[in-house]
Amino acid sequence: MDKLGKCSANYVPLTPLTFIKRASMVYSHRTSVIYGGVRFTWQQTYERCCRLAYSLRSLNVVKNDVVSVLAPNVPALYEMHFAVPMAGAVLNAINTRLDAKNIATILRHSEAKVFFVDYEYVPLASEALRLLVAGFKAGSSAQDAMPLVIVIDDIDKPTGVRLGNLEYQQLIHHGNPQYSGEELEDEWDAISLNYTSGTTSEPKGVVYSHRGAFLSTMSLIQGWEMSTEAVYLWSLPMFHCNGWTFTWGVAARGGTNVCIRNTTADEMYKSISTHNVTHMCCAPVVFNIILEAKPHERCPITSKVNILTGGAPPPAALLEKMEDLGFHIMHAYGLTEATGPALVCEWQSNWNQLPRDHQAKLKARQGVSILTLADVDVKTKKTMESVPHDGKTIGEIVLRGSSIMKGYLKDEKETAKAFQKGWFLTGDVGVIHPDGYLEIKDRSKDVIISGGENISSVELESILFEHPAILEAAVVAMPHPRWGESPCAFVVLKKKGSTTEAEILAYCRKNMSKFMVPKKVEFVEVLPKTGTGKVLKMELREVAKTLNTN
Ligand code: ADP
Repeated sequence: MDKLGKCSANYVPLTPLTFIKRASMVYSHRTSVIYGGVRFTWQQTYERCCRLAYSLRSLNVVKNDVVSVLAPNVPALYEMHFAVPMAGAVLNAINTRLDAKNIATILRHSEAKVFFVDYEYVPLASEALRLLVAGFKAGSSAQDAMPLVIVIDDIDKPTGVRLGNLEYQQLIHHGNPQYSGEELEDEWDAISLNYTSGTTSEPKGVVYSHRGAFLSTMSLIQGWEMSTEAVYLWSLPMFHCNGWTFTWGVAARGGTNVCIRNTTADEMYKSISTHNVTHMCCAPVVFNIILEAKPHERCPITSKVNILTGGAPPPAALLEKMEDLGFHIMHAYGLTEATGPALVCEWQSNWNQLPRDHQAKLKARQGVSILTLADVDVKTKKTMESVPHDGKTIGEIVLRGSSIMKGYLKDEKETAKAFQKGWFLTGDVGVIHPDGYLEIKDRSKDVIISGGENISSVELESILFEHPAILEAAVVAMPHPRWGESPCAFVVLKKKGSTTEAEILAYCRKNMSKFMVPKKVEFVEVLPKTGTGKVLKMELREVAKTLNTN
């Protein structure tokens, strides 16, 4: 090197693929994956990934090809997080709760070269493939081609269900365990493609780079203090932002992945107690599954279980109940475009002295940026000026840094719209408190503007959650002749008929400002939700339009 400056001689691209190779050496005999009666060590998992990557290359998968997969949290989906990028390809884990039409749209938009399908999803995938072909006929384009379909049978209890001629285990069997994967030239190369859940607009294909995935993973295992003894329960779908990067993160720590097919109370309690689970992630919606479990579904919780929650606002009352059960909760905020969590509510030791309900309120704030995110701020959208840190002035939450996506696949226009002056616009509005912690007030599309007052649906919901009879609540705007919009609360009760609209309204009048009190409370059996547990407020707004207020 003859002058100071850039040095490329020892440039090694950042990639989470290095984690598994290291795990195979450092933690070779430690358990990597548990699924029913199946157990693998890190050496075996790495070898299976090498074999699968080799087989994918043999099937003509090349650099930047998209490999889609429709599967629950089974070992195959875990292995694909390494094997697919080792083959130079891009992993597209599809939300299993989507309908056939949406899956067909994703397969077509991503130009998937291979489509792995878990046996349980064969009927859904078959219908999606039928729609895909019908779409080709209706308006063909140069890229139209059918993906190669490979079924994933259950590795613990094989079912014999097939779709096409190939089965996942065959690929493992015929692969080469010595194959170490394609050389990664550039850390900005794509590693995965995740479609947004489309809560507020059409799903978009978000592309992650090896670099972004590496840095986010490092930040999260550090921020959550995940140790090498971690036993991680897969209660969060791996298809959700690659399991918020913990697919790669557990390998980085040489921890153990406990894979479960269904996130039922029974499966979660049993896994926690049998395997001494130490870590799990989930959306707040899973808290209700845990809290409302029937006595015969519960098992004693003897290990310290750390839960990272996010994806939707967790009401403080719910956090408190979970902590009472013995769980240690950390709250994170993020979005598909930020490779999962971008903020964490880092705990300050001086908060330990505060009363428990105050602690829960602090924990319900979305927090501060993870280490590898360069910056987070709340700005006025028009001028992009930072709002004061007063906990009151509302602005748009904006992010900048390594974990933000490369862009939306084949959508320059939406990619350009998503950024302003280098900042990624989240579409969420919030405030910054004097201690620098950020708190979401709402999604900008969900704010209710009533007689010129902005009402945060999140704030209103968290007050409703404190009502003892309420299991879930979602508040949306409904048209109002005098106020323009007014809040309408959709409420799921713990026990049907246990309270009335008048009683809830009286509770609201006592616990919130007058202008925030809903004009209507509608009791429902369930709230409509996306595959990742977010309430579909668009649907509720349509229902609210049809309701009468008294
Ligand atoms: P989609 O935007 O399609 O719903 P995402 O999974 O990317 O899919 O959702 C990201 C959104 O989820 C954020 O913009 C925010 O509105 C919401 N969200 C995520 N984490 C939290 C949290 N901890 N508190 C409140 N809202 C959250």
